[in-house]
Amino acid sequence: MTPAPLRGSRSAAADSAHARQLLQLADQCVKCGFCLPHCPTFRLFRDEAESPRGRIALIQGLMSGALDDGPRLGEHLGNCLECRACEPACPSLVQFGTLMDGARAERFARLPRHRRMLARMRLDILTHGLSLRPLAAAAALYRRSGVAWLARALGLLREPRRAILDGLAWRLRMPGRRLTARADAGAHTASAGLFLGCIARGLEPGVAQAAQRVMQRLEIALDVPDGQVCCGAMHRHNGQPGRADALLNRNAEAFRHHAVVGTSSACVAELRLRLPAVEVCRFLVDTPWPAHVRVAPLAARAAVHEPCSHRNVLRDTEAVYALLRRIPALDVVALDGNETCCGAAGTYLLEHPDTAVTLAADKVAHLARLEPNYLVTTNSGCAAHLAARLREAGLAVEVLHPVELLERQLYSAE
Ligand code: SF4
Ligand code: SF4
Repeated sequence: MTPAPLRGSRSAAADSAHARQLLQLADQCVKCGFCLPHCPTFRLFRDEAESPRGRIALIQGLMSGALDDGPRLGEHLGNCLECRACEPACPSLVQFGTLMDGARAERFARLPRHRRMLARMRLDILTHGLSLRPLAAAAALYRRSGVAWLARALGLLREPRRAILDGLAWRLRMPGRRLTARADAGAHTASAGLFLGCIARGLEPGVAQAAQRVMQRLEIALDVPDGQVCCGAMHRHNGQPGRADALLNRNAEAFRHHAVVGTSSACVAELRLRLPAVEVCRFLVDTPWPAHVRVAPLAARAAVHEPCSHRNVLRDTEAVYALLRRIPALDVVALDGNETCCGAAGTYLLEHPDTAVTLAADKVAHLARLEPNYLVTTNSGCAAHLAARLREAGLAVEVLHPVELLERQLYSAE
């Protein structure tokens, strides 16, 4: 069950309802420690304060006033990936994600005004539809000019931050023309409204187009509603629930006449707080396909990476395997270690590049052993991060969204 989001962005010090709600959630933790072996940061640092149980105790201290909001507390809470691998492991059903979002909102509200403004501006630039082209142009400039080399030579850009920025700049592309599909009035097997997302459109510019072409082939009526905006997940996980709620409201208005289908599991998980959103693989598996549709065989191996939002929040990664198994001859295998976050985790890889690179190294090692032709994932951040790490390792594995692979096989069967 998806927990209700915590509303508003006021300080808990001034909003005792917010503090009480968080303390109530935290009180559900019986400190059994079953979650500890499932937590990537606990496994890396072997430190109670880097575990779900330890962080819950820190949040209890923060919200009750027993602990100051100092740098060490901030570091331990900030190191959490919000991967939510601790949730399925918890016998007390502690809603850890909601708790951590609430604690981050509290800490954000206590920041000085100028720091809150800067943080808001940074996220708004990253997630606004109009920013995509300038961001992609900046990435192209970074790739082609000597900026990266110069920054490195002057010691301004150290490893592994350089590796993270290089990877994102290499992946980020100018998005194609905005899709404006409108369903016609003919007979259809189903209908849907496609959610496009924000930065995902630049990190995986072909995915929306591929989804549109797949639905066209399956005779699904597809609209791409105007007025849709960023889902707000990055705002919620970075302590800005008020802004996240405002974005959810705008999307609820844009999709008031549509069943929402999203290609990114993280966006779908966020949209579900307000809308009955469906992840695209689940939607395509559950929709009856016209009898005449053929899928061309593909004698290749596809490894499935399960993003945390898909595995731990939507809890429906089986839909990805079921969809890919409709491609004849394709060897579909789960990537070892899918229960552990790859380190991308929204904006986490920018703020914690060391942890992000360390966690991705395990995935690359598994992929080197598995030798797949493709790595498929339903999250654009994971795709960008893993594609960059695979490229550094010299592994020729194409990183794709499942609908991109399906689209190729649907149209090569003509
Ligand atoms: S498994 Fe649940 S109840 Fe046990 S320590 Fe972890 S969060 Fe608390
Ligand atoms: S969300 Fe992930 S990183 Fe954070 S405490 Fe839970 S398992 Fe650990």
